[in-house]
Amino acid sequence: MAQSTFESYLITGGAGFVGSYLAEALIKKGKRVAVIDDLSTGRVENIAPLLSHPNFHFARATIMDSIVMDRLVSQADIVVHLAAAVGVQLIVEHPVHTIETNIMGTESVLKSALRYGCRVLIASTSEVYGKGYRIPFNETDDVLLGATDKHRWAYAASKMVDEFLGLAYLDEFGLDVVLFRLFNTVGPRQRGQYGMVIPRFMQQALKGEPITVYGDGTQRRCFGHVKDVIQAIIGLAEHPEAPGYVYNIGSTEEVSINELAARIKDITQTHSEIIHIPYSKAYAPGFEDMARRVPDTSRIQNLLGWQPQYTLDDILNDVMVYEQQQLGL
Ligand code: UDP
Repeated sequence: MAQSTFESYLITGGAGFVGSYLAEALIKKGKRVAVIDDLSTGRVENIAPLLSHPNFHFARATIMDSIVMDRLVSQADIVVHLAAAVGVQLIVEHPVHTIETNIMGTESVLKSALRYGCRVLIASTSEVYGKGYRIPFNETDDVLLGATDKHRWAYAASKMVDEFLGLAYLDEFGLDVVLFRLFNTVGPRQRGQYGMVIPRFMQQALKGEPITVYGDGTQRRCFGHVKDVIQAIIGLAEHPEAPGYVYNIGSTEEVSINELAARIKDITQTHSEIIHIPYSKAYAPGFEDMARRVPDTSRIQNLLGWQPQYTLDDILNDVMVYEQQQLGL
């Protein structure tokens, strides 16, 4: 049976939105935590309260730097690999960076982990389900991606390669690998500039600007609180039976984007109008969105008993309080 008490974590992308919450929770549990982040989308402010903690170490470097990676992995007994190109806006605008970071970065992490025999958790994404229409999405479903001239699908394909690579390292070399697919994950500190809808709508509402719904707004999503999501990640990290599988992590509370805009308008009591913008203007001509995205979370529930504790209303309240503070309201 694999080791199940890990004391020394390395989090790639640990200055990012999800990574910084994870780092904080692990430090609170008394773990040693090292973070590697090139601050391309991560921010030092996210980890500022941890920087002076004796159990915390921050390396500003890219995961492609194999020398730094190797040194950090040699000092860890488990790696949580979150560093990746994220955000639909960023992915559509910088496809080369997306593909290279996601594929070469994961390869670099796995090579070092193999050298030192570390458990590795690799973050993947619900984008992998692409245009899947069988709801809810189960980890064993076939995947249906769009054509290669639509850059959005490069993200899904690159993350699929990461999953294949992780499982191949497990099957061929016996490396202890766990994969998880994050569904829409939100909460305070998430930034809106790479596309994420909740911080964008909340900022627009609080500033009295138009709330920009893309497409006709009938597309549906399930938003999970980052605090729930990191509990699922920690559960997988610690569970001896977790390796060898992919796990969906997300909420199953569905909402349409029109309804989300209306709820945000309501709780902020804004006079902002809700406007609709065609996808071709918001992203690029030919952009394809998913109509519905709901996870089947029975696999992780069966393993860990994990279930989200926060509702969408809780999330919207938390994000509103945070954004009000940011805007000095
Ligand atoms: N969206 C929107 N207005 C915005 C940003 C996003 O209507 O200002 C939509 C987007 O087209 C998608 C949904 O909100 O249908 C969720 O977008 P996000 O980028 O947060 O995550 P995705 O589900 O696309 O990964």
